[in-house]
Amino acid sequence: MFKKLALVGIGLIGSSIARAARKHGLAERIAITTRRAETLDEARTLGLGDSYTLDAPEAVEGADLVILCIPVGAYGPVMAEIKDSLIPGAILSDVGSVKASVLKAVGPLVPEGVSFIPAHPIAGTEHSGPTAGFAELFIRRWCILTPEAGVDLVALDRLSSFWGAMGSDVEVMDAAHHDRVLAITSHVPHLIAYNIVGTVADLETTTKSEVIKFSASGFRDFTRIAASDPVMWRDVFLSNREAVLEMLGRFLDDLSRLQGYVRDGDGPAMEALFTRTRAIRRSIITAGQETSAPDFGRPHAVEAEAEPFAEVNVEPDMPVRDHGGGDDA
Ligand code: NAP
Repeated sequence: MFKKLALVGIGLIGSSIARAARKHGLAERIAITTRRAETLDEARTLGLGDSYTLDAPEAVEGADLVILCIPVGAYGPVMAEIKDSLIPGAILSDVGSVKASVLKAVGPLVPEGVSFIPAHPIAGTEHSGPTAGFAELFIRRWCILTPEAGVDLVALDRLSSFWGAMGSDVEVMDAAHHDRVLAITSHVPHLIAYNIVGTVADLETTTKSEVIKFSASGFRDFTRIAASDPVMWRDVFLSNREAVLEMLGRFLDDLSRLQGYVRDGDGPAMEALFTRTRAIRRSIITAGQETSAPDFGRPHAVEAEAEPFAEVNVEPDMPVRDHGGGDDA
């Protein structure tokens, strides 16, 4: 158990950590700091912590675990503010979706005696802010830790146990490897979603309204991903440029090949590919990373009764899930 957990940033991820840490008794005290007074008030109203302040150095003072839960582009200025208030023996961590650039930006600013252990919970939704969080978000989701060589192993063990207690499966890996894996499993898929939804946004009006009216699961599911936080995703692509470009290159080669199958009417080639991709979906379900319910468990019968001719697909306030997580960064 930690004596004082300081959460710098209290959006979807920070507030989920606050809720899970409280629920499982992982910290004696939780201090919350954020950039804007409105967000701090929201966190206070939700009762997410024991103390609330807009003064980040005050929040981290005396904390034995400090977690940055802000967009990665904000790490530099925030670290400059808090570094002198970190105490020797503290663990400094984060939840950012990219890791090599974080190590490079934050590493040199970490004071002597503080263990810096970057982390990335592969869990999230397309919603933002303190109200969007929930204690179960990390259950059965991976949390990847990317410490540098020479890390204090006791600190690494404490942080692993912290994430394990919130329900995560923890894996330790090299930051650069993390960024390549996430580029293909998360970053490029988000780029594709932003692109296809952007293409529709640019269509002339009649076609656009028909796309919305008849949106079937393919386009609709892209819109959920493309609703993810613009600032956070801007920072992901600014920070993981190399790995994203490498994976995007492969994707474009494969798309051209697929274009060739369609142009040539090559049914057997398409069928062979789609059979392989279906097997990947099945293995993700078997690994417990997705629900096996049809259409992501959407409640069709109720929706159909309530609004048989609904023209616009409206997502429920919170995504329907059989367990925490789903979309991630
Ligand atoms: P969020 O709900 O939008 O919350 C962002 C938090 O960061 C808020 O407290 C916000 O403060 C603060 N913030 C924003 N810009 C800031 C700045 N320039 N300086 C200081 N504070 C700033 O975001 P989130 O989804 O929790 O994401 C936080 C981190 O988690 C990101 O690094 C992201 O990469 C990572 N992550 C996200 C997901 C996901 O699916 N969402 C999954 C895994 C990891 P105010 O509201 O007070 O402005």
